[in-house]
Amino acid sequence: MDYTKENYNALVERLLELSVAYYDNDAPLVSDFEYDHMNNELKAMEAAHPEWVRPDSPTQHVGGHVSDAFAPVAHEVPLESLQDVFSFEEVAGFVERMDGAVSGSHDYVAEPKIDGLSVAVEYRSGVFYRGATRGNGEVGEDVTENLRTIRSLPQKLKNAPARLIVRGEVYMSHETFQTINARREVEGQPLLANPRNAAAGSLRQQDPAICAQRMLDVIFFNIQLAEGVDYTSHYETLEAMAAMGLPVVAHTICRTAQDCVDAINAIGEGREGYPFDIDGAVIKLNDLGQRLLLGSTAKYPRWAVAYKYPPEKKPSRVVDILIQVGRTGVLTPKAVIEPIRLAGTTVTNATLHNQDFIENLGVNVGDTVLVQKAGEIIPEVLQVVKKDSDGFFRFPTVCPVCGAGVVRDEDGAAIRCTGAECPAQRLRNIVHFASKDAMDIDGLGPAVVEALDRAGLAKTPAELYYLDAQSVATVERMGKKSAEKLIANLEESKSRGLARLLCAFGIRQVGTKAAKVLARNFTSLDELMAAGEERLTQIADVGPITAKYLTDWFASDQSRHQVELLRQAGVSFDSREELEDSRFAGMTFVLTGALERFTRSEAEEIIERFGGKASGSVSKKTSYVLAGANPGSKLTKAQTLGIPILTEDEFAKLIEP
Ligand code: NAD
Repeated sequence: MDYTKENYNALVERLLELSVAYYDNDAPLVSDFEYDHMNNELKAMEAAHPEWVRPDSPTQHVGGHVSDAFAPVAHEVPLESLQDVFSFEEVAGFVERMDGAVSGSHDYVAEPKIDGLSVAVEYRSGVFYRGATRGNGEVGEDVTENLRTIRSLPQKLKNAPARLIVRGEVYMSHETFQTINARREVEGQPLLANPRNAAAGSLRQQDPAICAQRMLDVIFFNIQLAEGVDYTSHYETLEAMAAMGLPVVAHTICRTAQDCVDAINAIGEGREGYPFDIDGAVIKLNDLGQRLLLGSTAKYPRWAVAYKYPPEKKPSRVVDILIQVGRTGVLTPKAVIEPIRLAGTTVTNATLHNQDFIENLGVNVGDTVLVQKAGEIIPEVLQVVKKDSDGFFRFPTVCPVCGAGVVRDEDGAAIRCTGAECPAQRLRNIVHFASKDAMDIDGLGPAVVEALDRAGLAKTPAELYYLDAQSVATVERMGKKSAEKLIANLEESKSRGLARLLCAFGIRQVGTKAAKVLARNFTSLDELMAAGEERLTQIADVGPITAKYLTDWFASDQSRHQVELLRQAGVSFDSREELEDSRFAGMTFVLTGALERFTRSEAEEIIERFGGKASGSVSKKTSYVLAGANPGSKLTKAQTLGIPILTEDEFAKLIEP
């Protein structure tokens, strides 16, 4: 292969950039598979051109940096990385190297490689003393207080040496990851990308209280230092840690290369049973004396390798395509396939992402597709390998859960349900309805909404106003007092007015600002509902897309039902955003040139606040043209039509109180 030095330098730069995103910001920009691929290419370049190797190359040091947000901890024993291998031949090659390098009998220990965040934890006289991240391998970050919040980390050990430093992996269990993401989805917060980054991001929080909420776990795989104790094998250290009360990684003794391969296969097949993600299996020489003799390179020990499982791909037939509706209303297609074994799990369905993806692949029920599972990521359909159907699958035009119409996002591939009462979105809709910017109902956060939902008490936002203190008091964690308070808060929220109510409906593109603009232009919800798209688009800041979202929303049966329930409950539909005065009523203004005293949107807002309209083009109906510096053709047109022209100062006079 011909490499140039420019290629080499560019690859080093790119990998360094990816490492910062991954280790320091806990937000990877590419998949591990892609990263490993690039890293291998770098290794090949360096093997062919050792004279190019830069000291800052990712092959020359352990990945992370030490953030100055934490106190530094110098590792007494460095926290090294591991040499990766990607094939069983390489595993056999490793065993062969060991056979050649060490004399006497020797064996290996095989362990799953947990995909979390490496930490060194110190115990003094058996009591948890301090813990640090790996950092750059030599110096880590002091995360003692955050580690204290981890329930699986024992605060005290049994029969521990006077000083003990152990190395382990902090992880977020699959169950916790799913629970936290379900909660974040309801609260409208961005979702955690994957358990590994979630664990790393949580352990490096400044506030231990936030770390505690993330319910992390830890598992250990090495003794770094044990004062006054001489262990002879790695296996023995693992057993010793377990006897002291530490959670310890599963471990199997292997004698031959074939044993190692069998153990790797068994770990891969059994990955479904672990509560954490694994990104490989580690094969380690067992004898600690032999390890010492072999030593380490700049980055990793010579006596161990990490086997990385390849993303597995297999064909299967699509027996059905189902549409699921998420809590944000997005419709996601899922292919139900004939069961196949992939990466240690039985796979019966695979994601098809969205309508565009389906169209590009041209996939439909009956086709045979290639399915991939990379690590623990949800399996995905890669391509059609045998076409046995006509055309491609088309999305339904109504929500499969509630029957309301669906719309495609104006700025993306997502297709969403518009149902105001859609059961799939109910939690999220109610949480949003009650939120600070919307109806601002105190005491109705996500936890209470979920509890009310479990008790079957409120299925849609409007039903909140039909709750009674007696039934609410029976809900978990509620009690009589808080139930009465909640009912009082609901009662109080009835008079919030049109702007907040509009925002609370959660109509696309109608957030606080647009809701206020609308409420300023209509005296009541009924007047707004009666207005057509044309009338709506005349309002500055309301574009044709928003106008369509609004009219569609109000045309739907579910929305109308909500509105009627709210009306009967006595929720105010009146606008509180009254015009300050209507001195510009019936007038249309056109703005041109650069304004100095106001921004354009400020000037437009003022005009609207006084009952006028701001328009983009001059016509005979224009009342005034407000001209700033370097006015354009609008000024000339206004002059021809004889329309009065205002300077900024004259405009300022007009709006004086
Ligand atoms: P590594 O993750 O390949 O291996 C070393 C780590 O394995 C140790 O830090 C240790 O904590 C952990 N480990 C888990 N179980 C273990 C066990 N039983 N025994 C020993 N160690 C165990 O090495 P690395 O240098 O930290 O990082 C490389 C990894 O990070 C690769 O998987 C790479 O794909 C990923 N990475 C990804 C990106 C990206 O942008 N996606 C960027 C940088 C690195």
